[in-house]
Amino acid sequence: MSNPQIALPARDRRGRALRDLRISVTDRCNFRCVYCMPKEVFGKDYQFLERREILSFEEIARLARVFRDLGVEKIRLTGGEPLVRRNLEQLIEMLARIPGLDLTLTTNGSLLSRKARALRDAGLKRITVSLDSLDDAVFRRMNDVDFPVTRVLEGIEAAAAAGLSPVKVNMVVKRGENEDSVLPMARFFRGSGHILRFIEYMDVGHTNGWRLDDVVTAREIVGMIGAEAPLEPLDPNYRGEVAERWRYRDGSGEIGVIASVTQAFCRDCTRARISTEGKLYTCLFATAGHDLRAPLRAGASDGALREAIAAVWSQRTDRYSEIRTANTAKLQKIEMSYIGG
Ligand code: SAM
Ligand code: SF4
Ligand code: SF4
Repeated sequence: MSNPQIALPARDRRGRALRDLRISVTDRCNFRCVYCMPKEVFGKDYQFLERREILSFEEIARLARVFRDLGVEKIRLTGGEPLVRRNLEQLIEMLARIPGLDLTLTTNGSLLSRKARALRDAGLKRITVSLDSLDDAVFRRMNDVDFPVTRVLEGIEAAAAAGLSPVKVNMVVKRGENEDSVLPMARFFRGSGHILRFIEYMDVGHTNGWRLDDVVTAREIVGMIGAEAPLEPLDPNYRGEVAERWRYRDGSGEIGVIASVTQAFCRDCTRARISTEGKLYTCLFATAGHDLRAPLRAGASDGALREAIAAVWSQRTDRYSEIRTANTAKLQKIEMSYIGG
């Protein structure tokens, strides 16, 4: 039941509605992508969260319902690597049963060929797979755990075969690492039915040593691909869609570019995030979150949780990407692997 005191959807101080929620289901990952969990930081002594610290499936499902009641329409599960969380299908099943929620998940694809069918059977409808290169040597260097590209490609095919289609494939482009993989990726996925999206490398967290020079811009990427296969812009699917869509003029499909650095989309940002241990963040680049686990475990009612979340959202002023500078890039922000992108 909605609280009559809270106008829906909840709006922040810049008038932005609360529409999307990303939930990190684990801070652990079986990859050590150089731009996300560099080995020097996330080595064998790194202290990941303990089991009692992380939200249970019941707690996550309860929060999902409360957020839905505040206007959230879309939930994305992420991590860390969400498929390393044991029995994730059970959580999918619980969330898929909540009416009015569009549910999806982002994965590195490493375990997908084994799990795609179970995820689909549990009620998942769509999936996004991250893949940074088709060149096996480049891919292994970027995931830094020597994981072969063929296994991720098998995962993408298994997802499509299970009905999780169209599969979205996300490629982060980092200069000096994988910009030579942009064209081969575009050629490979053109006409495949999967939707390839290129993401500008961002200064998330404070461990990846980000520099503006490392960003291959969305404009460059569209230029590179368009020079080979003419592209034309497509209208967004909905207001606030982060990917800018382009279609091949010959009708062989579309690509997306996510220009988080060069064309900030804070103005339309309707996204909240919950970390693995239940902190609410109102921006990917936040330096602090609001604890929801304590009230959850102290027996707070749904109404009290709704009010607490609405109060946080109503104070939100975040627009980090619009005001990013070399200095803000150095702030002690939360890590991507903890908040889930
Ligand atoms: N492990 C899953 C995966 O890799 O898909 C889910 C979590 S991961 C943090 C979510 C997304 O964030 C991935 O597509 C990843 O490539 C992207 N990502 C991580 N670090 C990034 C960065 N510094 N800049 C841009 N995207 C980044
Ligand atoms: Fe793991 Fe995803 Fe981060 Fe890579 S991007 S280290 S797969 S969480
Ligand atoms: Fe949203 Fe923050 Fe990203 Fe801006 S910087 S789009 S407010 S998450």
